[in-house]
Amino acid sequence: MPKMRAVQVSRAGGPLEMVEREIPAPGPGQVRVRVEANGICHSDVLTKEGLWPGIQYPRVPGHEIAGVVDAVGEGVAPWKPGDRVGIGWHGGHCGYCDSCRRGDFLFCKVRPLISGIDADGGYEDYVVAPAVALARIPEALSAVEAAPLMDAGVTTFMALRHSGARPGDLVAVLGVGGLGHLGVQWASKLGFDTVAIARGADKEPFVRKLGARVYIDSEAQDPAAELTRLGGARAILATATSGAAMTQVLGGLGVGGRLMVVGAPLDPLQVSALLLIGGNRSIAGWASGRPIDSEETLAFAVRTGVRSMNEPFPLDRAAEAYDRMMSGKARFRVVLTMGA
Ligand SMILES: [Zn+2]
Ligand SMILES: [Zn+2]
Repeated sequence: MPKMRAVQVSRAGGPLEMVEREIPAPGPGQVRVRVEANGICHSDVLTKEGLWPGIQYPRVPGHEIAGVVDAVGEGVAPWKPGDRVGIGWHGGHCGYCDSCRRGDFLFCKVRPLISGIDADGGYEDYVVAPAVALARIPEALSAVEAAPLMDAGVTTFMALRHSGARPGDLVAVLGVGGLGHLGVQWASKLGFDTVAIARGADKEPFVRKLGARVYIDSEAQDPAAELTRLGGARAILATATSGAAMTQVLGGLGVGGRLMVVGAPLDPLQVSALLLIGGNRSIAGWASGRPIDSEETLAFAVRTGVRSMNEPFPLDRAAEAYDRMMSGKARFRVVLTMGA
């Protein structure tokens, strides 16, 4: 049997280790994808540290996959070998539960499949996935460009599109890291009056280049007061991994404003009920997207020039690449490449 490289975690908290495995064959309804690139996401910590309930080991992490269909199982029309495809957090669903019948595939109640958690993900040369998890990658995007858009990109893009804000509205992006640097670009290209909030004066020229009209340095200014002075935000995309930072901006929501939470801090948000009531304000979460949402994200990126800024690492340096992501110093997404 031909072999491939896979980077697996063999126990909760264990190291990322390169192993040789047999190249898997796709079953009915599945395809095999030759992985070209895989973005490393902070949520890979769930696999690495065993934080997801019921996760089984060994497991290959990775849910920002870009590659080429390499083999198809039975019943996977219209996919064929050679198709360029991406796979994100959504790695499959049952198709018949109430959530699926409403199109909420991510919240499937019967057989939700999360790439890199319930099934092996993209830290390997070949991945097998249900055909329903595939999104088409347009020609204009390279695999390295497409991979981080399969989770970081689709999450931030869809959260903004579901924030209730309309073109011209004041929209703030809290945090300018892996998620936020995409959030600022989407917000600007969607026609929002875009504000970026981060720590430190040094980020200002960069966020303006990404499309922000206003930069708020939360170390020197009170973001809630500044947003209020600007008229109040219709939406704030909260990408920071700090509940305290999210709490700090809530007062900057305008009437009808909504905090869209996509970052996952460990500390809680604290909110005054009066703040919510006295202005019809709300707090909402947003989880990733369906394959069709990913396709729309990629298409919008092609049309508008939005790109993730990436630090590529070859697969055999996956452990180093993961540490780089965890350090918080990456500018801005770390992407594994498999080589030809
Ligand atoms: Zn992710
Ligand atoms: Zn279902």
